[in-house]
Amino acid sequence: MNMKKSQAENILIDVNSEGKIIDWRAKKMSSLGLAKSYKNISEKIKSEYESRGVHSRYKKVKRKIKNEAGDITGIVVSDEPMGLYDNTGKRVVNYEKRAENMRFCGSYLEFAKIEDRLKLIKANFCRVPLCPMCQWRKSMRIFFDTSKIMKLVEQRYPKYIPVFLTLTVRNCSVVNLKNNLDNIFNGWNDFMRSKTLNPEVKGERKQIVKGWFRALEITYNDKTDTFHPHFHAIMLVDKSYFKGSDYMRTEDWVKLWRKSAKLDYDPVCDIRRTRTDNGKRKEVAEVAKYTYKDAEILNKKLSDDKKDEVVKYLSGAIHGRRLYAYGGVMKEIAAELKLKDVDKADLIKTSDDYEINSSLAKMILTYHWNVGVSNYTLAKKIELAESDDNA
Ligand SMILES: [Zn+2]
Repeated sequence: MNMKKSQAENILIDVNSEGKIIDWRAKKMSSLGLAKSYKNISEKIKSEYESRGVHSRYKKVKRKIKNEAGDITGIVVSDEPMGLYDNTGKRVVNYEKRAENMRFCGSYLEFAKIEDRLKLIKANFCRVPLCPMCQWRKSMRIFFDTSKIMKLVEQRYPKYIPVFLTLTVRNCSVVNLKNNLDNIFNGWNDFMRSKTLNPEVKGERKQIVKGWFRALEITYNDKTDTFHPHFHAIMLVDKSYFKGSDYMRTEDWVKLWRKSAKLDYDPVCDIRRTRTDNGKRKEVAEVAKYTYKDAEILNKKLSDDKKDEVVKYLSGAIHGRRLYAYGGVMKEIAAELKLKDVDKADLIKTSDDYEINSSLAKMILTYHWNVGVSNYTLAKKIELAESDDNA
């Protein structure tokens, strides 16, 4: 490709603390690809939405008007959009709006240059579920949050040991994903409330799982055209669990998950202990992070129509669900640290880097997504005056 030298020099190069290049371009390209799919879906679904009586709902919002002196001089009532609803009152996905939002996701990035590194300080992320750019930012956020939670768990409960659990069900057809998810989410609740995990001891309920985290992952199998929804969970148990009568073998977990999810077959469950006692915190955070990887559907070789169909059923099925949650002591600590739900959390400050003093920054660099070049190019550069500490 013939690229002007000046353009090549102005292309964003962001390197992480390990010297690895952060591929912003690839994330942005994936988001654009998914945005295209959402746009197609919005066209294809028009007649279905019409027949279901899909309409916009608004709520009245009152705003006070004040004069310069701060006195209230009037009230304006406006209609604020609440989203799309069908004629049964159920909220439905607004694919057109999602496509539009995702198309502009991360279209500008502002960095502070500190020594040789770039630190993101501003960006416009769309927060559309499944957006690859946002999924990536969320995965970093989850790693950061879970590390913080585990740090306190280790300090306060040194005897708690994480057990990693994968709970699966059989693959389901694309159109059945929604029903399947209803079932496994109910199954999870029954699982956690079960007598097996909360046995009665001297008239009181004893909790075997002291804290937990769970995330839903859905993979797509293009050979069989099916979805494979499953939970990744981390359960904190007391050290004594491994030696006492509470201990559960793999077949016990299988039995409990089978019963909870009301399955008529033995589901595949994977259970493993943390490998080390020292690296426990990192291992837990890694597992948590892993669950928020890209929607791999985008990487499969599917026809556009097939891709649109898969994306549509996947989006519809996860709409409004909590894909990610903490429980027990992990939930308590998350609340104490005032950690926000990942869907609402800050996607800019996603690592310890943010504890670096920003006053060390020498430069502010703003990059824009450049459609012609298909990459991020420098749009603005501001040199910061030397710190006036000595003044
Ligand atoms: Zn996004």
